Amino acid sequence: MIIVLVGAPGAGKGTHGKRISTKRGWPHVSSGDLLREAVASGTPLGREAERYMKAGVLVPDTIMLQWIERLLDKPEYREGIILDGFPRTVPQAKGLDEVLTRHGLAVDQVLFFDVDEGIAVSRLAKRVSCTGCGLVYNLDAKPPTSAGECDRCGGKLEVRADDRETTVHSRFVEFRGSTEPMIEYYGSTDRLARIDTTGGIDEVGKRVSAVLDGLLGIEAG
Ligand code: AMP
Repeated sequence: MIIVLVGAPGAGKGTHGKRISTKRGWPHVSSGDLLREAVASGTPLGREAERYMKAGVLVPDTIMLQWIERLLDKPEYREGIILDGFPRTVPQAKGLDEVLTRHGLAVDQVLFFDVDEGIAVSRLAKRVSCTGCGLVYNLDAKPPTSAGECDRCGGKLEVRADDRETTVHSRFVEFRGSTEPMIEYYGSTDRLARIDTTGGIDEVGKRVSAVLDGLLGIEAG
């Protein structure tokens, strides 16, 4: 199954991507996480992507399309994958369709996590992540046991550089300008499901499960 997760910053793509992965066994691949790792380890991709990420704007399509080609060259990802944060523009979505077609595959389902911008911005302001293992906390809903320190590895917790207010604004501008047209592109096919993100994580998780169970032909239980 090839699943694509789309949503504005703070919509919950990462949280639900990990949950789907645990439940269904498909690998969860977050383009943002892989780009941050590339920046941290100073790879050629990381060196190219860094200035765009710092500014809260999208990394150019040509770079992202090379990235997805290389990723899908790995057979393990062709068995099933949850793509979180890629594609994000119409050219990326079309490029993904082309790469998948070459492998005899297609996007099976796009899940659009629809969130109110005000709710997402206040969520991002409370999001901290571990500089060691990357575990994400929400200071209200899922706080660490001891302030500033990761429960899992003891690493230091920090607000992600691009979650600060000015950069968050640019990321929303990018979402409206580049990603919303892509949602319309998928909407013109029967692959798009809109997920209402109001309510708690479990409630939203049930809505996601209902869509995926329907796709897999599993009866609701
Ligand atoms: P995220 O963690 O998904 O919010 O991504 C963080 C940043 O990585 C974004 O603001 C972009 O600069 C970059 N990025 C992640 N995925 C993509 C993509 N598909 N296309 C372009 N830039 C991306």
